[in-house]
Amino acid sequence: MRNLKSILLTGGAGFVGSSLARHLLKESELENLVILDKLTYAGRRDNLMLPEQDPRCHFVQGDVCDAELVKRLFAEHSFTGILHLAAESHVDRSIERAGDFVQTNVLGTSVLLDAAREHGTPLLHCSTDEVYGPIPSPEKAKEDHPLHPSSPYAASKASADLLCLAAHRTHGTEVVITRCTNNYGPRQHPEKLVPLLIQRALRDEKLPIYGNGLQIRDWIHVDDHCMGLIAAWRRGKSGQIYHFAGHRERTNLGMARSILDALRKPHTLIEHVGDRPGHDERYALDTEKSMMWFGWQPTIDFREAFPETVRALSVDLRDDSSL
Ligand code: NAD
Repeated sequence: MRNLKSILLTGGAGFVGSSLARHLLKESELENLVILDKLTYAGRRDNLMLPEQDPRCHFVQGDVCDAELVKRLFAEHSFTGILHLAAESHVDRSIERAGDFVQTNVLGTSVLLDAAREHGTPLLHCSTDEVYGPIPSPEKAKEDHPLHPSSPYAASKASADLLCLAAHRTHGTEVVITRCTNNYGPRQHPEKLVPLLIQRALRDEKLPIYGNGLQIRDWIHVDDHCMGLIAAWRRGKSGQIYHFAGHRERTNLGMARSILDALRKPHTLIEHVGDRPGHDERYALDTEKSMMWFGWQPTIDFREAFPETVRALSVDLRDDSSL
């Protein structure tokens, strides 16, 4: 079983990373948590206000592609593990400008793999269901499903996954890859579907829905994802891939309606706009392997947690004029 004594967490100022930091700090065995984050438009120092009150937590603003910086951090800390979440993560932006995604998601992962290899430090790469491309209903992708990424974002994450697997096979680097479905929860950047729709609804503006809105995504609470990341870190086998899903499939249109219902706003605010190019119809993951290997299952009920998330995010979005 891997330990959580001294961890380099990348992307910790983002949505999933800031939740993971909170979960890691609950672990009594954790002695040192270094958060490396570039603070792009998606990362917010405020997301770490609570974790940084813990003396075990240290924030470093910097780029995962900066090999010298990564080298220095490894010289200063005896890391027992790397939890790699830093990424350019917004599909629409990747369609406009793929270069940043190749840089951070592919090159950044390669830099961390070099450090992992040099220091014999295990690395977990947090990846996505989008690497498989569209999955026809009622099928669910298993971990050996062929990779057919549609967007540059998905292609860059698939590339990073393959680099991890290659490092494992060529150099024996200890790597674990996790792939998860769509997360909802606190501190998500307002360009993403859920906070974006909430922000529009609060302003009584139209909620833009791509195409017919019947694209299906599976939704998982970010805390369930974080529990899975920690379980995969501790007990995942090196060179293996593990899935996490909430098993709550919803159309984008259904999500917009749920948001409007939670905020008591009319469905007439929904506006269909031209579809996103290369828009996948459905993602779905089989999570049997994570269940069998480390007993992971989602525990948070969407019907209760999603309206709560909508209300909590709407308070944050109202209070924070910078968002
Ligand atoms: P996010 O965009 O909210 O956060 C990404 C963080 O990475 C930000 O804090 C940003 O500042 C940082 N970052 C970006 N480029 C960097 C660089 N070059 N160096 C250092 N830091 C950099 O993303 P998220 O939703 O929190 O996703 C985190 C990870 O989880 C990503 O790897 C993503 O692919 C994966 N994932 C997310 C979801 C989801 O639904 N949010 C689902 C599956 C997998």
